[in-house]
Amino acid sequence: MLVVMQAQATEEQVRAVCQKIEALGYRAHSIPGAQRTAIGITGNQGEVDAGTLEEMPGVQEVIRVSKPYKLVSRDTKPDNTVIKFPNSPATIGGPHLAIIAGPCGVESREQAFTIAERVARAGAQFFRGGAYKSRTSPYSFQGLGEEGLKIMAEVRDRFGLLIVTEAVDYESLDLVDQYADVIQIGARNMQNFSLLKHAGRLRKPVLLKRGLSATLDEFLMAAEYIMSEGNYEVILCERGVRTFTDHTRNTLDLSIVPAVQRLSHLPILVDPSHGTGKRDSVLPMARAAVAAGADGVLVEVHHQPDKALSDGPQSIYPDQFVHLMDEIEQIAPVIGRSLHRGIHIETAAD
Ligand code: PEP
Ligand code: MN
Repeated sequence: MLVVMQAQATEEQVRAVCQKIEALGYRAHSIPGAQRTAIGITGNQGEVDAGTLEEMPGVQEVIRVSKPYKLVSRDTKPDNTVIKFPNSPATIGGPHLAIIAGPCGVESREQAFTIAERVARAGAQFFRGGAYKSRTSPYSFQGLGEEGLKIMAEVRDRFGLLIVTEAVDYESLDLVDQYADVIQIGARNMQNFSLLKHAGRLRKPVLLKRGLSATLDEFLMAAEYIMSEGNYEVILCERGVRTFTDHTRNTLDLSIVPAVQRLSHLPILVDPSHGTGKRDSVLPMARAAVAAGADGVLVEVHHQPDKALSDGPQSIYPDQFVHLMDEIEQIAPVIGRSLHRGIHIETAAD
């Protein structure tokens, strides 16, 4: 159920409706919009008796949300969610494309700094790199753990980049929350519901990757898990799904971009690195993602991909990343978007 408040409803009236919903034993989610505030109701098994709420001052109407996802839905919030960051002009979901770049894993301070400097110079505003890696094999590189998070925090201080890094379980979630600007939840954890709920109790944006075989509904329901706990800053990320195709690591499903945008107000990014698994395919698919209307891209970049401890074959060289930025900068205006590349990097000569 959704309580739609009148455009001129006061904050007090919104608060009173929320209190009433909670008093009835449900959870109220106040969602301010450009025109009016909507209040989502969750925690109800069946239909909520609309009568009592409809009578309250400031309420325009009480409507049933027929979709299984409620807080994620555009019915609840017609205008796009734009994620903002304290102390940074970067946004995710607004007119400016969000570009997240960096290695698959943080391997050393030197590796992270070398790549961060290159991607910052090229104009990325977000630096990615896993300190905890969920690998298919237990014998593969598992990440540097907290040491890796500390390196990421140093990268933020040095280059002014916002940090995106993955949490794989409760322990890492708490640590990642302390160090990161965006918490990534990986494809293999997209239906780890207890992890999603924990992330929902934090107050930090969550980048949720699509599961390897997740349908659109399953993807949106995973986001709903996070939002139902009160964290409304969810960023979706298409990263390819398993198909019979074997010329790429996964099949990048770009058609999910308009499908998500029709149903949901949440931002959707595209990851052509995991989506293709092939260095040469990353640039063309990044161009296509932007052309399809994605809110940005997430790409793996490594200065020595042949020595990378994970995902070397799909990591592009820093020069290729510059090229990628140049090209999407030209595509962006065609679809009413733009790329901000304004970060100033101090060098030893400065
Ligand atoms: C990653 O971003 O490095 C990663 C492991 O991604 P995914 O969860 O999409 O496989
Ligand atoms: Mn990777």
